[in-house]
Amino acid sequence: MRTRLSVALAFLTVTAIAHAQTPATPAPKMTPKSPTPAQVQQVQQSAIVIDTHADTPQRFVDEHFDLADPLGSGNVNLDSIHKGNLGALFFSIWVDPGVYKGRFAGRTFDLIDAVKQQVAKHHDQITFVTSAEGIEQAHREHKFAALMGIEGGHSIEDSLALLRQYYALGVRYMTLTWSNSTNWADSSGDINDASVPHNKEGLTEFGKDVVYEMNRLGMMVDISHVSDHTFYRTLVITRAPVIASHSNARALCDAPRNMTDDMLRAVANSGGPNSKGGVIDVNFYSGFVSQAYRDADKAQQPEVDKAIADLKAKNKAEGKETSQTEIDKLTHMYGDRIPRPPLSMLIDHIDHIVKVAGIDHVGIGSDFDGVQSQLPEGLDSPADLPKITAALMARGYSAEDCRKILGGNLLRVFREVEAVSKELQAEDRPRITDKQPFDKPQK
Ligand SMILES: [Zn+2]
Repeated sequence: MRTRLSVALAFLTVTAIAHAQTPATPAPKMTPKSPTPAQVQQVQQSAIVIDTHADTPQRFVDEHFDLADPLGSGNVNLDSIHKGNLGALFFSIWVDPGVYKGRFAGRTFDLIDAVKQQVAKHHDQITFVTSAEGIEQAHREHKFAALMGIEGGHSIEDSLALLRQYYALGVRYMTLTWSNSTNWADSSGDINDASVPHNKEGLTEFGKDVVYEMNRLGMMVDISHVSDHTFYRTLVITRAPVIASHSNARALCDAPRNMTDDMLRAVANSGGPNSKGGVIDVNFYSGFVSQAYRDADKAQQPEVDKAIADLKAKNKAEGKETSQTEIDKLTHMYGDRIPRPPLSMLIDHIDHIVKVAGIDHVGIGSDFDGVQSQLPEGLDSPADLPKITAALMARGYSAEDCRKILGGNLLRVFREVEAVSKELQAEDRPRITDKQPFDKPQK
């Protein structure tokens, strides 16, 4: 086993070195200048702005939140979407693996249904789309395009049949893991936890089938959250370019969920030999943006843990259960004590990814409604997205560069994933999925 593992590791290292040479596209030459508000608006309005990650569906289900409502404690609603000219958003279908243990699929369907209910309710403003062409069509019709991505491979309950049905319902990407490892892929969230079983190759044989089946279906493979080993293994397996729907640069903020420069380059070079490569969509969460924020957050963690334990003890004494909402409220309160990082720090991540991976490989994946409002200064909803455009222009990014970052790059990758899917479906090769075991009724 040792030898097999070291051979695998040697192979992965060679792959990593091969990726480490030069950015897939050179960084643009830039002259910083202050844009006027009219110039910023002009760029914002001419772009198809795409955000690849927001956790709003949980609000739909748990808080009966409606997109026409005021923001309240959240980040995304129709008003802010229109103000920021957000053209398309991938609503994240995230199932809490602790709370919904034993019924991941049921909760996944509830969240998918909630997105569709919102679309039905606001069909004059929102259109549900499942393709790159659909996003462009919605843009032409001045409508907001709603899409869906699953966050966490545990939603498929080790079943390719479920994966295919999620695709049929319109899900167009899936992060192979959330912070929890699955039976077939490892997460950066628990990779150092010895009590969690991990697989030596990063992906099991079934995990490789999942990646292949996603390629075949035309579902984008999302490597946000996975362990480094699973990341490299996935890149060896995938036939289509991958996305990181909400991840940042580890060189600027040392979170295990952020990506090393080598990984950024590897995403830019992902896909087949003719691929134009994948995209990394930057996450707005302060704890992934700023090292200072992260350090302060870590320093007060024992205090937060104690406060949660005290709350649970108090509730128990009163014969009550402690809800996740109560815990979130408490962590939110502690998070608010730490100063918000400046917006410029988020722009530094975009800059860094452009320098390392190239202008064609960066996008936006806010993580709105998933990070308890711990966001950089002035960035509270899609209405603030033009501030990112203004900051990029001030650093010398051209209108064309801004449009790539705001959504053009993701659109290109999405289109390529669709093309690879067509190719794979035309191949007359034995179905890899035939290997999937069936649950036979006991005789
Ligand atoms: Zn996430």
